Amino acid sequence: MTPFSYARASSAQEAGSLSVRDGHRLLGGGTNLVDLMRKGIEHPTTLVDVTGLSSEIRETERGGLLIGAAARNAAVAAHPLVRSRFPMLSRSILAGASAQIRNMATVAGNVMQRTRCVYFNDPAGARCNKRAPGIGCDAAEGFNRYHAILGASPACSATNPSDMCVALAALDAEVHLAGVGGARIVPLVDFHRLPGERPDLETVLNAGEVITAIEIPPSPAAVRSTYRKVRDRASYAFALVSVAAGVAMRDGMIEDIRLAFGGVAPKPWRASAAERVLRGGPSTPKAFAAAMEIELADASPLAGNAFKVELLKRTASAVLAELTGETR
Ligand SMILES: Cc1cc2nc3c(=O)[nH]c(=O)nc-3n(C[C@H](O)[C@H](O)[C@H](O)COP(=O)(O)OP(=O)(O)OC[C@H]3O[C@@H](n4cnc5c(N)ncnc54)[C@H](O)[C@@H]3O)c2cc1C
Ligand code: SF4
Repeated sequence: MTPFSYARASSAQEAGSLSVRDGHRLLGGGTNLVDLMRKGIEHPTTLVDVTGLSSEIRETERGGLLIGAAARNAAVAAHPLVRSRFPMLSRSILAGASAQIRNMATVAGNVMQRTRCVYFNDPAGARCNKRAPGIGCDAAEGFNRYHAILGASPACSATNPSDMCVALAALDAEVHLAGVGGARIVPLVDFHRLPGERPDLETVLNAGEVITAIEIPPSPAAVRSTYRKVRDRASYAFALVSVAAGVAMRDGMIEDIRLAFGGVAPKPWRASAAERVLRGGPSTPKAFAAAMEIELADASPLAGNAFKVELLKRTASAVLAELTGETR
């Protein structure tokens, strides 16, 4: 590992202005960044510790939730407000990593974590357009069992690995940013980019900006919600497919619904087409199956991951049946 120095930022402004200096990288819990440094993918000269930013988790005036960027994943998952009003968020965090890693990992670091594509993580032996734009992508003809079936491009089909972000996408979360150019708020679903020709550009974060908080609006569909992750091992593994879902029911009909998928796209995938079909309709297996057909009409699997299409359809339908209590 290349030698580096350490600095501590006491405000978003300071973190933003330090982050634009050559070789400077923001440091949350370090559970992803330090791994990437060990593998020779990141070579910072200075780590700017941002764990001094707010870690507060509190209710907003409109009954939603505000989570400071430096809040630890474990603290968010265990918070009574999260567990009672946004259970899918708590469950999504607990479905990821290990207790020790969740104790260290910050919310901002989780949102910014890099892909687990094996070729991205092998700088010595593999070609990867995300690490070196234009060099090629070894996953295209290689091991692509974990890769995307939605939203990918010929340049890159890596998936976003975050479980938490799938719940945040379903919950209409917003990312609060601040830094040298002022403050702004971006919907979580617009924060991560699709790869297109530039898979190295992963988010809309500008130079000199840092994440300061995540805000989640109140929603009746968030209360009756859950997260299910299907993976190769029962723990300590990334999703093959995952589903974050919430419903509000009235007179046996779906009054409102929130649905997002993980493990299947380069960004947390909000299933807006399926939501439109299901909102206001009956909660039957037939309706769930029809909605999934529409959502996955443009799915484009690779040689090693065609199974994800059917797996995702079945997982989402099973989750919705469980949540609505309807299996007719
Ligand atoms: C063995 C292992 C298993 C894992 N399994 C899972 C899993 O199953 N599911 C899952 O979702 N995750 C999993 N993870 C990933 C884990 O969730 C992330 O490593 C963690 O969330 C990153 O948070 P951090 O605070 O440690 O980030 P860091 O490693 O400190 O930083 C990550 C990135 O975020 C940037 N950053 C940090 N703070 C800010 C900020 N305020 N503003 C802007 N950028 C910032 C850093 O510059 C860096 O680029 C696993 C990790 C490991 C090591
Ligand atoms: S899928 Fe993306 S991250 Fe993986 S090797 Fe190809 S370009 Fe790199």
